[in-house]
Amino acid sequence: MITLPGMDRVWDALPEARMVGGAVRDMLVGCPVADVDFASPLAPEVVIKRARAAGLKAVPTGLAHGTITVVAEGQGFEVTTLRRDVATDGRHAVVEFTDDWREDASRRDFTINAMSATRDGTIYDYFGGRADLAAGRVRFVGEAATRIREDYLRVLRFFRFYARYARGEPDAEAVAAIVALREGVKSLSAERVWSEIKLILKAADPVPALRLMVGTGVLELLLPGADVERLAGLVARGAPVDSLLRVAALGPGEVADFAKRWKLSRAEEVRLEKLMRREMPRPEDDDAALRRALAADDAAVLMDRSWLYGDAGPGWESLRARLPGLDRPVFPLQGRDLAALGVSPGPRMGVLLRMAQDWWLAGGCVADAEACRAWVLEEAGKISPLK
Ligand code: ATP
Ligand code: MG
Repeated sequence: MITLPGMDRVWDALPEARMVGGAVRDMLVGCPVADVDFASPLAPEVVIKRARAAGLKAVPTGLAHGTITVVAEGQGFEVTTLRRDVATDGRHAVVEFTDDWREDASRRDFTINAMSATRDGTIYDYFGGRADLAAGRVRFVGEAATRIREDYLRVLRFFRFYARYARGEPDAEAVAAIVALREGVKSLSAERVWSEIKLILKAADPVPALRLMVGTGVLELLLPGADVERLAGLVARGAPVDSLLRVAALGPGEVADFAKRWKLSRAEEVRLEKLMRREMPRPEDDDAALRRALAADDAAVLMDRSWLYGDAGPGWESLRARLPGLDRPVFPLQGRDLAALGVSPGPRMGVLLRMAQDWWLAGGCVADAEACRAWVLEEAGKISPLK
């Protein structure tokens, strides 16, 4: 049984709670478990009362769904009251509370996500999740088509868990249902789709799942023109597991449009924009050329681009090995240095600074402030008068 700091305190306060969902699944496959969710047959008010009586903080973070976050030893645990579905419109479920563990398990998406575990390590597995996990099968709980019609996000969740846990042929019933109902993914919000896409791309090898997304026609609905085989090359070259790097390999098209469509954060958009620019050093470049490249983009960006645009050859390996050892050069002159030489602020100062920077770049970014000033005095004045 896994124990995270604080779990024992939760179990002391709520002995009838069970660990549920992803934590049980990941414990069984031996993956590190970062967050543990609990379910319990207790009403949310009772969970709050018991947790507080045991000296724990209890915050009603999703009271409508019956979710209380219990904080123990600095770690937050969601404790959700067992639920049963009463209605759904394909995006939102209407639920009511129950004390029946099997009912709660039956509304979960996949058999591997529907297990629960008590404190003593007993696993409750109502739908054969353990055998599916061992066999690398991602199977819906109940009828695939029905479960997808209840919530189209499950189509993308299928690929997320397929990417992480599946081996061999995908479940035929799931695939047929996804093909028949795939248009439903168009009704999902941009935020939910983007966050699922990133989760799919976070798998060690997302390529089989993406090929299945191509085969079922889902990928074309979401990322038309995505080049899965190009991503396969990136993965095969051993590039780091990085969702955004992988999106860049799939080919997002015009980054601004892509960012708008999927509501990327500003930071994601800026990074993707940088990744899509092809300027980068070549393996045969000397250190001076590398320093020039580093003056424009930091080493992390160049490293990313080397994965995207380089090939599998040893040259790229050694280029990547050289990059971190080089300092990022900083152009040593500023406006005030030129002002000290008698240049008055204004467009001419900008022109002179840029000329000096180009000279500095061409020389491999080794000239210091003194040398740059001397160049401005001796050479720049010949091209554009200093005053
Ligand atoms: P991860 O490690 O990626 O977080 P997880 O299994 O914890 O995996 P979550 O999205 O955090 O996945 O959901 C927690 C649990 O809630 C799932 O294991 C599943 O039992 C249930 N669940 C979440 N979303 C759905 C859904 N759309 N339909 C049915 N059950 C769901
Ligand atoms: Mg989770």
